[in-house]
Amino acid sequence: MPFKNLGLHPLLVKAVRDLEYTEPTPVQAGAIPAILAGRDLMATAQTGTGKTAAFLLPILHGLIDQPRGQTRAIVVSPTRELAEQIEDGCRKLGQHTQLRSTLIVGGKPIAPQERMLRTGPDIVVATPGRLLDHMNNHNVRFDKVKTLVLDEADTMLDMGFLPDMKRIITKLANLKQTLMFSATMPPVIAKLAADILDNPASVQIGRRTATAVGITQAAYPVPTHLKTSLLRHLLRNTEMPSVLVFVRTKHNAKKLAKVLTTDGFKVAELHSNRTPAQRTKAMEGFRRGAYQIMVATNVASRGIDVDHITHVISLDVPDVPEEYVHRIGRTGRAGAEGDAFILVSRDEEQSLGRIERQIGQRLPRVTLPEFDYTLPAPKPAPDVGLRRPQGNGRPGGSQRSGPPKQSGGGGGDRHNRYGKRGPT
Ligand code: AMP
Repeated sequence: MPFKNLGLHPLLVKAVRDLEYTEPTPVQAGAIPAILAGRDLMATAQTGTGKTAAFLLPILHGLIDQPRGQTRAIVVSPTRELAEQIEDGCRKLGQHTQLRSTLIVGGKPIAPQERMLRTGPDIVVATPGRLLDHMNNHNVRFDKVKTLVLDEADTMLDMGFLPDMKRIITKLANLKQTLMFSATMPPVIAKLAADILDNPASVQIGRRTATAVGITQAAYPVPTHLKTSLLRHLLRNTEMPSVLVFVRTKHNAKKLAKVLTTDGFKVAELHSNRTPAQRTKAMEGFRRGAYQIMVATNVASRGIDVDHITHVISLDVPDVPEEYVHRIGRTGRAGAEGDAFILVSRDEEQSLGRIERQIGQRLPRVTLPEFDYTLPAPKPAPDVGLRRPQGNGRPGGSQRSGPPKQSGGGGGDRHNRYGKRGPT
């Protein structure tokens, strides 16, 4: 079905064509008619399914012929990075219209935001805390807001934003339509939806907790103290044009970024110890391809929408299975292919088992014949997989050999999907 059959304004159909979206994704085909009809909506859609355009297109449509100079739609998202991407989406999808959007996020000076809000941008994309700051300031008015979107609603609740969200909703006196998007549907979201939404349309794409299509996943069993070595080995011997590496703590992120930079890789860092300016710079550089590797903590797993991420590598196994789904949703976006590797130590096998039950699939275990798994832990104390490697970490890619040996299931031999099987 072409976009124009959805009843969208021709200026939006033109923008969609410019962006080379040939047809609506399933979540767009499901959500757009319901939103255009004025319904509340609860959408459960996997990451990377095109859900941003699913709410932005009908919102823009509804605003095109309305009087200007007043904010009439607000999108709330849990992280700055995600908010930036949504606002970027407003600009791209609204490029042929006169509609204006603005970004209201924490960590930036408040006065310029206030001045901007007083000009009445049509759409405000915000993180909850900073939006509330502005709502508590009587110089800025939100009384014409008719539509509210809660994006990544499950994450917002994870991050403790529920009280803020309730306050925001209470302050929007003339709200007519609320749209919730969530990658997963834990009971707390279902309850929230029931409390807040009025007879919502429901769109559910795929399994509620499934991973995005197009992603090939593999688990690499490895002792904790060799995780960094194995990662470096993979990076040197596999063609990985754009890699997102997840670690548990910002301390580890910093350490790892340093090690990989020393190896000669172009590396960006994204974690909460970075200033907003550093985070924006890291994201932009990664998006442009100036950095091959982004080392990130979970903060980043929600917000990153970079088309070309080819590999997501988790250096630890998240305790919460949904976290894994979010992480790997950063690759394989919009039907593209991507590889997701997870490095798993023996004591993380149980957590991996929980993930496998959640995604309904057992990950193939991959061991690399050319990698020495018997190296001892460094003295005095084992670290969290971020020690300098011993013996196996020679820079310069001198460890090339045959394809990885795989045990327990298909898929692991897609070590490289760029025409060369196995390490290159
Ligand atoms: P999202 O799930 O909103 O983060 O979107 C993931 C990616 O899909 C973004 O890079 C979008 O630009 C892209 N996208 C959205 N809608 C479509 C579509 N109909 N066809 C192709 N790509 C799309």
